[in-house]
Amino acid sequence: MAVRSRRSMVPITEIEHSAFCKTEDNLPSKPLAEEMSVNVRWQQIPNEYLHYTADELDQRIGEARAKLGKTVTILGHHYQREEVIKYADFQGDSFLLSREAASRPEADYIIFCGVHFMAETACILAAPHQKVILPNITAGCSMADMAPMEDVDDAWADLEDVLGPGGIIPVTYMNSIAGIKALCGRNGGTVCTSSNAKKALEWAFEQGERVLFLPDQHLGRNTALELGVPLDEMVVWNPFRQMGGNTPEQLRKAKMVLWQGHCSVHTRFTVSQIDAARALHLDINIIVHPECPMETVQAADMVGSTEFIREKVNSGAPGSKWGIGTEVSLVNRLAINNPDKTVFCLDPVTCPCSTMYRVHPAYVLWMLEGLLEGKVNNEITVPEDIQRDSKIALERMLSLK
Ligand code: SF4
Repeated sequence: MAVRSRRSMVPITEIEHSAFCKTEDNLPSKPLAEEMSVNVRWQQIPNEYLHYTADELDQRIGEARAKLGKTVTILGHHYQREEVIKYADFQGDSFLLSREAASRPEADYIIFCGVHFMAETACILAAPHQKVILPNITAGCSMADMAPMEDVDDAWADLEDVLGPGGIIPVTYMNSIAGIKALCGRNGGTVCTSSNAKKALEWAFEQGERVLFLPDQHLGRNTALELGVPLDEMVVWNPFRQMGGNTPEQLRKAKMVLWQGHCSVHTRFTVSQIDAARALHLDINIIVHPECPMETVQAADMVGSTEFIREKVNSGAPGSKWGIGTEVSLVNRLAINNPDKTVFCLDPVTCPCSTMYRVHPAYVLWMLEGLLEGKVNNEITVPEDIQRDSKIALERMLSLK
């Protein structure tokens, strides 16, 4: 059994998750100095950026972008707030955005308005001359933070002790640190997104008997159930306990070993919220993300990735009604873009992803004005060996048919 190299802790991003939750249904951006009164970690930036109004930020960002031209591209994840996404040259989910970064070689600088693991993936896929920038360095992801490398290395050593080399195939969700993607690349595994998790698991079960799925237990469980793996052939790996809280016998019998991680945003969606929406609207469509717990997914009418949810709502019939279980900034945007439909978030509390929300337009301006002065603030880099091995796992994912 591996000697534990460290004690696991609840990540700070999880503890800070509810910091921006509100009962009103909109969250207009305020000058950064006011937003910083919310008790979470913020990256400190020069004082002048703290007090610009929305109009001042808009004007300065426009001027800086005009001077920088095509040397800069701004990518925006769907979960970004409205006041940031409007600057994005391209919007998408984490993987689409990384691919977009790689397809814009004319851009020397990629400002990635998203969270840390996304910027890392963009860095792995970008051309060597491109620099990837994360506007606020404290924009992490609570799910990715639930699988720190030391814990995953310990778990992998334990699993290899019990199951032997090649006894389990590692599959990691895109929402994980680059080191885990590299571990998958080195050990015959792959990466998946919420759009292709089923294909990735099918592929993994062709390579071996069992799968270690990281870091989101819900996406892993929901997808394995879809493939017909029964619940009694799945175990959870709890990094707080020796051998993940399992006996060697339980591990040998399991087809799926699910890392005990979750998304702080999607685990807020419950069956009782779905029941309440159905009681209010008889003909409602309930659509949720597969990072939601199993019971919520089973009570919904449809389950799918962010891109799937967007496509379904955008192509829905006029007058159709949609109760949605995903991040509220995206749901609010869908509601605005589909005024002929009823679109609302299942969670009655407005609770954005607190790390995505830390990308305020003032940080975007700080990045742009830094570039005008020849300074690259918040460049995200990935060591060469990690890049090489994670690229193997990402390329395996890309070749999935
Ligand atoms: S929505 Fe969940 S998985 Fe996505 S960045 Fe936020 S915490 Fe991470």
